[in-house]
Amino acid sequence: MVEEEPLEQEGEEQGGSSRSAAGEAAKELATKGAKKLAKKAVASLGWQFIGGCLGSTFVGIIVIAIFLVIGLVVYGYFTGELEESEAGECKGATSAVIDQATMDKINQNKSTYEAAAKKAGIPWEMIAAVHYREGSCNPKKSPVNGEELGTPNSDYGTLKEAAEASANLLKNRAKSVYNKNLNESPDDDTVGYAFLAYKRGYMYRDGLDKNGKPCPNQAQVKNTPYDKSPYVMNGFDDQHQNMKWNGCIDGGMTHVDKKLGALTIYKALKGGGEQCAYTTTTGEAEWEIKNGWEDWIKHPKVEQRPYTGDTAKRIHDKSRRKTNIQIVVCHYTGSTKDTLDSIWNFFNNENSNSNAFTAFLVDRDGKIVQAAPANVREVGIRGYNEIAISIEGIGNFEAKPPTAAQMDSYVWLVKELLAKYNLKPCDVWGHMELNSNKSDPGDDFMIEMWKRLGVQGASISNHRGDHNGCNSYSRLPP
Ligand SMILES: [Zn+2]
Repeated sequence: MVEEEPLEQEGEEQGGSSRSAAGEAAKELATKGAKKLAKKAVASLGWQFIGGCLGSTFVGIIVIAIFLVIGLVVYGYFTGELEESEAGECKGATSAVIDQATMDKINQNKSTYEAAAKKAGIPWEMIAAVHYREGSCNPKKSPVNGEELGTPNSDYGTLKEAAEASANLLKNRAKSVYNKNLNESPDDDTVGYAFLAYKRGYMYRDGLDKNGKPCPNQAQVKNTPYDKSPYVMNGFDDQHQNMKWNGCIDGGMTHVDKKLGALTIYKALKGGGEQCAYTTTTGEAEWEIKNGWEDWIKHPKVEQRPYTGDTAKRIHDKSRRKTNIQIVVCHYTGSTKDTLDSIWNFFNNENSNSNAFTAFLVDRDGKIVQAAPANVREVGIRGYNEIAISIEGIGNFEAKPPTAAQMDSYVWLVKELLAKYNLKPCDVWGHMELNSNKSDPGDDFMIEMWKRLGVQGASISNHRGDHNGCNSYSRLPP
């Protein structure tokens, strides 16, 4: 069974608050802590219902009950401030200030930007922002590519012409690269992706270099979101200062970007703004993890049943892996009464208040369901989520061994993952090997698994022991 995240890791992921007042920050921390504590307690209770590798004991239930009470009391106490806390984590308003010289140029060109923007049906501030990036808002330079306008080799004769081309390019690339529709009042996320798509968006999307060749670390750089691009986000807030270009994608440039990002300029011209910069709607999140994050096993044996609603949004906004997959971890769900649907629903159900989920489920009848792309950082095994991909077998293999069909599918899936992520049989672990409190998926299952993967004389190890003749444990985090 999967495990909840430790509190500290959740804290790290959310990043710091950009508010400067110490009192505000402290209040937020207290509120965040209380919220997590409450969520944690409720989540833990949820785990008791499905039992499994949590190793539930009577003592455990008492401890959890006490935590639940404390959690709910603290939660209730702070409830009035929760909304404010959420808003504090939102990074919608930029703290950047446009210098006066640039502002003067923008004002000088403003009527040209406005006319071109009106024609295309997009905000004029977007044209100003790309003109800043490409030509420092110099009226003699093109917002498309920074070329001197009207020179023999230039693509465009006048700023009017180039501004109109720029507006169309923004619209067309946003649509063709990220399926985003620009209009007169787009949300920040759409604007961010339009800027990312403007010059080299497909390279960020596909992990390609400037010549269209795959980056050596393509799996890592594929689907890079716009907030990682200096072109879009530099100088936006405390978390986006002195951003560097991606060495592969951006043609070997790894220098620190000295200019403000396009979204930074855009938001500054808009007067900061109230929206969250990278808050996606539920629908967008669902679409993106299904279509934009392409790390799905596309094979007739695998049914794609992506998580939906708030779960999709949470996964989308917080859970992209930063490193390669390095181990495959086998689990069972814990109860002989579990069904694929009940477990999928549990992982997908916000009411369960659990963050836990895995990408793969293998049913008793051999059906395989992939519920999230593999480059999603799962919440499945404490301490290893960044590098591990987990598979949940439906049932309790110690009480009732997997069916032949289930075992066959499980082995097939493990082999697919090993091949896809360039791993070895010794990179396959049982959950109980990595956490001594767990017993899933059981010794018999793992021995059979390794046997089918061709490991001779396989043996169960405890964490960091020799792992079937190779040192895959040396890559595990401390
Ligand atoms: Zn487990």
